[in-house]
Formats: sequence, structure tokens, C-alpha cells
Amino acid sequence: MLKKLVLFDIDGTLLKVGSINRRILIDALREIYGTEGSAGSHDFSGRMDGTIIYDVLGKTGIERREIEEKFEAVKASYIRRFREETRESDITLLAGVRELLQRLSERTDLLLGLLTGNFEASGRHKLRLPGINSYFPFGAFADDAFLRTDLPPVAVERAFRLTGKKFSGKDIVIIGDTVHDITCARVLQAHSIAVATGNVSMEKLRENRPGKLLENLSRTESVIHSILNP
Ligand SMILES: [Mg+2]
Repeated sequence: MLKKLVLFDIDGTLLKVGSINRRILIDALREIYGTEGSAGSHDFSGRMDGTIIYDVLGKTGIERREIEEKFEAVKASYIRRFREETRESDITLLAGVRELLQRLSERTDLLLGLLTGNFEASGRHKLRLPGINSYFPFGAFADDAFLRTDLPPVAVERAFRLTGKKFSGKDIVIIGDTVHDITCARVLQAHSIAVATGNVSMEKLRENRPGKLLENLSRTESVIHSILNP
């Protein structure tokens, strides 16, 4: 019987993408807006792809209305480039991830999903290259909301439509590498597992009081224990 909904962040949690990610965003912004704004130096960790586009163009003098009008075009350009140019060698699966997903997927009491700031099309491509996309039957993505904190209810609703089960509180586990992931869990009073494999230090994560803090996901048994025992 299903007991827990386990929602994974992608970047810094399951895998890392090399510098190609930033380069592709820069190319798409230049193509559509004629400038990349501050995309060369912006901190993307834990941010929504949609918000990033607005933020990096914020000081370019381009009016918000123009950003909005061309938003679908820049998103399409980014996704097309991402699919065409990103190779398996650009993706590094983080330690223990493949083993963990295999073990979790064998359990009938867990439902796995995604909760990520990626657009779905590019996010799925990141997972497909190292062969872990099929572990995630559904997710909540940057396409679904502008704010990351609006994603958890979307994921819960999709889980309900898929399984008929209404997950709530500590039956929901959110696993991620940034403070934003911990904040997301707080929205639903869900269990959060913070993992220090992204750009955020153990200390910084600890300050934000995750339910559980892990150095990485390499100790499979210990991670499973953390998921099952909030
Ligand atoms: Mg992340």
C-alpha cells in the first residue's frame, strides 16, 4: 500500500550539468532578446527556469512587457538547444543516485516524483541522458508556476490524480540541495531531506533546519531510513 510521496529536485540533488546549461541559456537569451543580461554570473541554484529569465534581464532596460511577450519564444529556444546540444557526457549523476532510485522504485509503499525549477522538457532530457527518467512518472516543474513554493500543491494534486491517494504532512518527503527545497517542504509541513551535493554548504543548509541533513545520497540504507522516518 502506498504510504509516502517522495519528491526529488534535479540539479545538485540527482545530477549535475556542466557549463553547457548556462551557455545554452545565454545563447537563447541572445537570440530572442539580443542580450544575455546577467546570465553569465547569476546564481541558478534552487531557482525556477522562468524566474531566472526575468531576473537576468532585470537590469538590461528591456521592459517587462517585452520580456513577457517573448517568453514562450525564449523558452522554446532554450529547450530546443538543450535537447540538441546536451550530451550524456555533460551530465554527472551524483553518488548513490542510481542505486537509491532502483531500490526506492522496487518498494510498493513509495511513489516517486519530481519537484524542480526545470522546465519539464529540458528537465526530462537531463534525466533521460543518464537513464533515470523512467523512475519518475510525474512531477511539478517551472512550467506549472512562477514561484517554487507554489509547486508542492501541484505535485500533491498530480499524485492524487495518478493514484487516488491524498498525501499530506510528513507522508510527503522533499529531497533537495538548496534552502528553496527546504522552504518548499515547509509549505506543506512535509518532511525535508537536504543534501549537500549542490552549491550550498552543510552549515547553510543546517541553519534552515531541514528535517534531515545528509552529506550526499551514497549511503542507500541510511537515505531510505531517513525517508521512512521523518
Ligand atoms: Mg537543486
